[in-house]
Amino acid sequence: MLSKNAEVAQVLEEIGLLLDIEGKDRFRPLAYHRGARAIKSLGEDVVEVARRNELTKIPGIGKGLAKIITNYIETGQVPKLDELRTRVPIKVMELMAIRGVGPRTVKLMYDKLGITDLESLERAASDGSLSQLPGLGDRSVKQILQGIELVRQGLERTLLADALIEAEKIVSALRALPSVRQIEVAGSARRRRETVGDLDILVNASDTETIMGTFVGLESVAEVLARGTTKSSVRLTSNLQIDLRVIPAESFGAGLQYFTGSVDHNVKLRSIAQKMGLKLNEYGLFRGEEKVEGREERAIYESFGMTWVPPELREDRGEIEAAQDGTLPDLITPDAVRGDLHTHTDQSDGRNTIEEMIDAAQEREYEYFCISDHTKSLTIANGMDEERLEARINEIDRLNESGRWKMRILKGAEVDILQDGELDISDDLLSRLDIVTASIHSRMNDSKRVMTERVCHALENKFVHILGHPTGRLLLKRPPFEIDLSAVFEVARKNNVIMELNAHPQRLDLNAGNLRSAVRAGLRIAVNTDAHSVAELDNMTFGIYQARRGWLTKDDIINTHTLKKLLRLIKK
Ligand SMILES: [Zn+2]
Ligand SMILES: [Zn+2]
Repeated sequence: MLSKNAEVAQVLEEIGLLLDIEGKDRFRPLAYHRGARAIKSLGEDVVEVARRNELTKIPGIGKGLAKIITNYIETGQVPKLDELRTRVPIKVMELMAIRGVGPRTVKLMYDKLGITDLESLERAASDGSLSQLPGLGDRSVKQILQGIELVRQGLERTLLADALIEAEKIVSALRALPSVRQIEVAGSARRRRETVGDLDILVNASDTETIMGTFVGLESVAEVLARGTTKSSVRLTSNLQIDLRVIPAESFGAGLQYFTGSVDHNVKLRSIAQKMGLKLNEYGLFRGEEKVEGREERAIYESFGMTWVPPELREDRGEIEAAQDGTLPDLITPDAVRGDLHTHTDQSDGRNTIEEMIDAAQEREYEYFCISDHTKSLTIANGMDEERLEARINEIDRLNESGRWKMRILKGAEVDILQDGELDISDDLLSRLDIVTASIHSRMNDSKRVMTERVCHALENKFVHILGHPTGRLLLKRPPFEIDLSAVFEVARKNNVIMELNAHPQRLDLNAGNLRSAVRAGLRIAVNTDAHSVAELDNMTFGIYQARRGWLTKDDIINTHTLKKLLRLIKK
């Protein structure tokens, strides 16, 4: 979440990969990979650590790496990386971002076909030369082509969570200026879209010269694309583009409405204005020459005889009609959440101990909290076998009895749905858990029919309560697997299974449209963080954003209910 840490980790990672590909030394690259991991999982800002001269105190960072990091923080330069890039001219981070492409494949493609970037890879994939390489059949070439598409999107789009971090930094820097009266993030970030193309910030201020000077001079700015008195644009080191607009107070509400979008929502709103003999634009709502509204966004909506529309709904999916009829849903708010039903500890692949996770849940004033580590078939995540799961169940019983925490700790597991739709833990043991989440973590390339049957079969197991991350997608990385969700919803309804809205910023699975369909199909939703560390418990916020985009109310969501009601509702 700390963007400088991510940058530094990426520099070390790239050096390691290029050394790997060069292949002169087997051990030197490992030091860089280890260093990259150390920085990525560092709990504080690497710039602070460097300032205290304590980089070498981080396990995995030796003197050599510390020097590279310090130099990069101070000058933005990495001479070693520049040299390597001349010797091995491969855009390795770009290529490795494609799922299923590792250092060995990159090296093979470079040695045999001279592939150095997405363009040359795409050419080789299309002209048939790529599929001739050992280990790369037609199937993997097809996947690589899909992967190229996703990576290209990734270069153009940013995860909402990352965009909001950048936005927050810029907004707080500008808000500190004395002449700033109002400042708001607009655009798709305000609508809480899952990914953001560029960021729009609107400001109402008197001293525009200072505002623009501060904006283009921010530390995270890589390039100034335009600088004017009412609009400036920059590109950040993270590649995100930011547009800053100065808007006078009397038009601020209209500007906010206009620049929040979406395009479809605004087109419909403008046509409503027209029918009423009015004109709506970024400066205000006008009757002839006379400005009727402009200062307040809410007042603009009210002028049309409708209620204000929450930004998350502004996609022209029926929200305008609902606002006219006064039937907009009473959207879920973060304070309604009473617990988290899907979290991991160091028992499987989480970073924190069970006590640390529960302490953190207590800080968030949860009423209940479910620990749901992976089970045995997920070996890469150190999944629990029956023996460890049984020990875990007993441990949670003891923790509940200890009276150390006010909340109820729920016994859970995230069990794997196997190839045949069976689960990897016996019913006997599942029956002792409070909450069983079943998830797909393997064979994601199964055909739609096979995947649908697999999942439906799993949901018929009478101990399954929740279907975890139902489509398996990773935003900007991996498309959803093919599955007939309406069939899944039907089986889930018959068996009283809850659909998960996985709140991890890279998953946000189910998506907004599917959430609405699930609720229409009579299902309940669990908004879960799937946290693998204490910090990730905060991802609940992104789940709530997504829930709002899916028109969900408090009642649609299972973990807004009291413990007693929750346990009653999940009963089979
Ligand atoms: Zn999972
Ligand atoms: Zn999980």
